[in-house]
Amino acid sequence: MITDSVFSPVSADVINQLTQILGAGSVSTAQADIDLHAKDQSQHPAHASEVVIWPQTAQQIADVLRFANERHIPVTPWGVGTSLEGNPIPLHGGILMSMERMNQIIKVYADDFQVTVQPGIGHKDLNAQLARQALFFPPDPGANATVGGMLANNAAGIRTVKYGASKDNVLQMQVALADGRLIRVGSRSIKQSAGYDLLHLFVGSEGTLGVITEATLKLTPVPSFMSAALAAFDDVETAVETVVAIRGSGLDPAALELIDAAHAAMLRDAEGIDLTDQPTLFMEFHASQEQSLQAGLEMVKEICEEMGATRFRSTTDPTERKKIWHARHSSFEIMVRKFPNTKFYINDVAVPISAYPELIGYVEELKREHNVTAYMIGHAGDGNIHVEFPYKTAEEYEKRAELNRLIVLKAISLNGTSTGEHGIGIGKMQFMNTEHGPAVDVMRSIKNLLDPNGILNPGKIFPKI
Ligand SMILES: Cc1cc2nc3c(=O)[nH]c(=O)nc-3n(C[C@H](O)[C@H](O)[C@H](O)COP(=O)(O)OP(=O)(O)OC[C@H]3O[C@@H](n4cnc5c(N)ncnc54)[C@H](O)[C@@H]3O)c2cc1C
Repeated sequence: MITDSVFSPVSADVINQLTQILGAGSVSTAQADIDLHAKDQSQHPAHASEVVIWPQTAQQIADVLRFANERHIPVTPWGVGTSLEGNPIPLHGGILMSMERMNQIIKVYADDFQVTVQPGIGHKDLNAQLARQALFFPPDPGANATVGGMLANNAAGIRTVKYGASKDNVLQMQVALADGRLIRVGSRSIKQSAGYDLLHLFVGSEGTLGVITEATLKLTPVPSFMSAALAAFDDVETAVETVVAIRGSGLDPAALELIDAAHAAMLRDAEGIDLTDQPTLFMEFHASQEQSLQAGLEMVKEICEEMGATRFRSTTDPTERKKIWHARHSSFEIMVRKFPNTKFYINDVAVPISAYPELIGYVEELKREHNVTAYMIGHAGDGNIHVEFPYKTAEEYEKRAELNRLIVLKAISLNGTSTGEHGIGIGKMQFMNTEHGPAVDVMRSIKNLLDPNGILNPGKIFPKI
């Protein structure tokens, strides 16, 4: 694999060649454009690319890659920069490839519950258009992330507990390789067993193996009946035990989220949601018949109360339900607004559901032992938690990073993972060997095969040797 020092700079000639491939309005070295694409939503520092480009066709992407590969120029794909682990930061400069102008629905196959899209479409924009056909693409990371960015990070979010992550909702993709080949991976058939599963090789590869130029997604009919439910508990441990009980009951929640007492108070104050200062479960249930929705709600109420919930309420009113989920989705921004001049180190571990109480117990113990403030919000139904450590100084950052390391090692020891949904990016490269062992060498071989000059999103995923 190429070493960092042998990347070539973006010269005037390179700009000229890119302009020939893309047209003048699609290539920019303006400082404002460089700055806008230098940093995602994580705590990782910004790094400038040398040029920003906006391709409009798959062929243009392929042509740029072929050219950049020949010249040994780094290319970093960019969806809309909502990553939380530095995934799209152009660490080695070079070309920043924005998908912003490839944001169209290509075709809806309503009878097959499928849609083919360009990679730059936001999942919320997609769902707004699909609503006319009473269909939706379930993965929901809260932010209006692009489909390409979601597939590249294997994003998940609040509905994964019922509908799966991005990887479970894609059937076929077109991918541009570093050498300029355009390939199709997967098919539109729900069942597929023809050869190696290259589709899922590219899902979660964070733009390091190829650029997704088109994707065919699985859709789901919008449920006829939906409800939201909230259950508050005196302590996090009881809330988490309740999550395991709900999962074990055979109930099929469409969302099962845990927020700690601090977040509950923040959401109440900022969004006017009727919440107490207690760890709270946010739940959603979907059904095709009203009776089954009501029966499910009664059952979950019973479980929550038996486990020790001090408060339970549910609603089928669409406005109230949307308000609750809007608050949950805004929790990160609300926290950031509440603590100005504070940064947050965000953790994203996930474990098998039976190990979730032990993981959360460990986090609570670490907080007490180190006398450190940390907030918690998690996709509890999936065994996924985000521990959010506020910090202001470099010294505080180091301490939070160490606590994060301990939590990740605990999660891995519980047969879990360093990252349930945010990806490796920059921050979790250090855990790749611990989590995957010799399988990391196999990943490196695949990377070397598909991107021998190492031009695609360099500096990500692989720990330095
Ligand atoms: C408030 C907030 C809440 C969030 N909540 C969640 C959550 O609940 N669940 C969750 O999973 N995530 C969550 N995220 C993280 C983020 O939304 C996801 O990681 C998302 O997948 C990023 O998509 P993006 O379009 O912003 O891509 P970017 O951040 O721009 O890029 C993501 C990665 O994909 C690569 N990439 C982009 N487009 C392509 C392409 N076409 N081909 C190949 N590679 C490409 C980039 O190089 C980068 O490595 C949250 C983020 C925020 C800010």
